[in-house]
Amino acid sequence: MPRYEYRCRTCGDTFELSRPMAESSDPAACPAGHDDTVKLLSAVAVGGSAASSSAPAPSGGGGGCCGGGCCG
Ligand SMILES: [Zn+2]
Repeated sequence: MPRYEYRCRTCGDTFELSRPMAESSDPAACPAGHDDTVKLLSAVAVGGSAASSSAPAPSGGGGGCCGGGCCG
């Protein structure tokens, strides 16, 4: 279950709640009982693809060696 971070605008406290994604925008009362809270953008890791690189590695300089018939 994802965790969401909220901040209370009444007392300035921040707190986290674990709730279903469908209820992420529902009002959340702070631990002190205030209802004036806002949901913060939390960095929830849902799986990344930053480590995968699909770009082909450049090979050869294209100097005309194998294209000009000098290699065979
Ligand atoms: Zn509060």
